[in-house]
Amino acid sequence: MSLLNCKECGSQISDTSKTCPHCGAPSTMAVGLSNQNKAGKILVGVFSIFAGLVLIIWNLSKEYPSYMDRELADKYFEISSQLHIAGLFLILIGIIILWYVSRAKTK
Ligand SMILES: [Zn+2]
Repeated sequence: MSLLNCKECGSQISDTSKTCPHCGAPSTMAVGLSNQNKAGKILVGVFSIFAGLVLIIWNLSKEYPSYMDRELADKYFEISSQLHIAGLFLILIGIIILWYVSRAKTK
């Protein structure tokens, strides 16, 4: 445990406390952590959208081998459409995370 200087009032506060006991401002440590948290969430959101797009593009670009018999082709189709839904789902999750992060206030 070490002491930090409050950004607002300049008094010394513990780095384990999230807010200054004197003026109630968030400690410098707390601000740093929440920014890091935000950056991590943005990364997850962007990655999720990217992964979803890759999945859908890959899914659309691949061709069905002509040697497949009907039963196998049906199964192939089924898996393919599931991948498509998974891709859309990933994009949706990514958008929700980014939307949530952009709404969250950081002090
Ligand atoms: Zn203070």
